[in-house]
Amino acid sequence: MCGIVGYVGKQKAAPLIIEGLKRLEYRGYDSAGVAVFQGGKFEVAKKIGRVANLEIEASHHRLTGTFGIGHTRWATHGGVTDANAHPHVSSDGTIALIHNGVIENYGKIKNFLLPKGYTFKSETDTEVLCNLIAYHYAKEAVAREGESRFVESVRKTLHHVEGTYGIVVMALDAPGELVTARKGSPLILGLGDGESLVASDVSAIVSRTQSVVYLKDGEIAHLTASNFAITTLGSDSVEPVVDKVTWSITDAEMGDHSHFMEKEIFEQPTALENAMRGRFSADGSTAQFGGLNISAGEFRGIERFMFCACGTALHACMVTEHLIEEFARIPVECDYASEFRYRNSPLFRNTLFFVMSQSGETIDTLAAMREAKRKGYKVLAVNNVVGSTIAREADGGIYQHVGPEVGVASTKAFTSQLLIGAMLALYIGRMRDLSFGAGVRYVEALKGAPDLVRKALLQADHIKAIAKRYAHYTDMLFLGRLSLFPIALEGALKLKEISYIHAEGYPAAEMKHGPIALVSEKCPSVFFAPSGEIVNKIISSMQEIKARKGPIIAIITERVELPAGLADETIVIPECHEAVLPIVASIPVQLLSYYIAVERGCDVDKPRNLAKSVTVE
Ligand code: GLU
Repeated sequence: MCGIVGYVGKQKAAPLIIEGLKRLEYRGYDSAGVAVFQGGKFEVAKKIGRVANLEIEASHHRLTGTFGIGHTRWATHGGVTDANAHPHVSSDGTIALIHNGVIENYGKIKNFLLPKGYTFKSETDTEVLCNLIAYHYAKEAVAREGESRFVESVRKTLHHVEGTYGIVVMALDAPGELVTARKGSPLILGLGDGESLVASDVSAIVSRTQSVVYLKDGEIAHLTASNFAITTLGSDSVEPVVDKVTWSITDAEMGDHSHFMEKEIFEQPTALENAMRGRFSADGSTAQFGGLNISAGEFRGIERFMFCACGTALHACMVTEHLIEEFARIPVECDYASEFRYRNSPLFRNTLFFVMSQSGETIDTLAAMREAKRKGYKVLAVNNVVGSTIAREADGGIYQHVGPEVGVASTKAFTSQLLIGAMLALYIGRMRDLSFGAGVRYVEALKGAPDLVRKALLQADHIKAIAKRYAHYTDMLFLGRLSLFPIALEGALKLKEISYIHAEGYPAAEMKHGPIALVSEKCPSVFFAPSGEIVNKIISSMQEIKARKGPIIAIITERVELPAGLADETIVIPECHEAVLPIVASIPVQLLSYYIAVERGCDVDKPRNLAKSVTVE
């Protein structure tokens, strides 16, 4: 959460930083602020609300300095106020700071600083950290041989801090220098032409440079316009690895679409093609992955899989569970990463651990992964952002390769996780009992998925019309069975996230055990009814809803014939292979929640209280 941008170079820093913040706004939008160094002091502009508000505020300050820092906040400590917005400046005026994360021992530090004369204008943990750096900066009047006083004061401070942080710091006596450090929050250095940048996400800096260094936990970087050096908290120097970003700024722009979410929904056929490219074996009967770092022999010895994730990614894991159990006949367990990390869950020997996270920075997923590794398990990761913390710390993994996802509500990242899960099930299945012929059919089906998604997207106008009729409801149920139960959960989550309609997902037959009490003419149900063995059971569940006057939106596959008058609305999707069905069935619920949210006038890309990439606990 929260977006961070720092710049040092020859250009005016504020417009560049604000431009970067706009690209990071999906990470937090409670407030935004910028501070630049000019005229021998820090000039700060900050405002609650969106970066657009900051832009207006900044125009009242003449921000001409060529180095500075900026932040979009997702409040954890202290309300959404101008005073709590970042950057914070220490009460002695020597240090300016932006911070992503939570300083858990901020109360203790504040009590230490108050008698020493430091004062506080905000309720944040961040301002306490800022003043502690100022305290060490003042104490550290002379640097030791070969060391920067500025870097040393940050290093000293961080030794006293408990919690998580991604910080960028400016010091009054160090014009043209930025110090940045991380523990638990992502930070990326951008090495430009006569300028250096730092940001919490590549999208903020990719318009200026594609040369980046991913900072690791426990590292401190010292940046000037022409140079940078990285050391550890323990003062060891670090040999940096410079990476090249493979996508450009246009990939992170909205184009002709009204929202990023719309763009990303319609991008899914291409995203799926990218996610599967080069990942089928030459004989066309199985999947292959480059970066698993685990031999086929080791894979064959696996007796159990454990998947951990949060939110939408957990729904992708649940579909993967279904497919691995069905096609590879190996038991799979899924858990909320946030629960797993604190539960003392017994793990079987020969268990392979998987985590899924679009950003690769989700703090709960990262912590679950670290816990599994601590217990001696290998962990593989499925994630989209190359170079993310989870990708780097995992023993191996699979990149989603769908380009930047900006909409807070995940769409293309979700369906590509479903695809990769389906490919994994195939890969493992073919190592066991899945026949060559079944493998070939499976591969053909996956290759056909982008076109089936294209076909499902043709329903957009029909779904938009349905959305107009259903946008006024306040409650909705999503009901599906087998591999579509997680898609029912995902449909409900999407609707909640972006339209603020209360929605719940259930296995269709389960609704008799409670949720049916909600059903009335005021609570519509969205049913998934694909052709197959249990379609008649699903139709019976629909009848039970209809008997209680509940409106029904039925998402059916082409071969299904519903009794006349049973569904109030019908959305038809193509017939497809079991491995592809969850992907195709996701499209109508994504579109439905998108159009309902638009109809209700909601801020689709930046839903209230949410932020993408949840980097705080
Ligand atoms: N804990 C800090 C605050 O509440 C930083 C939050 C963030 O990561 O945006 O201001």
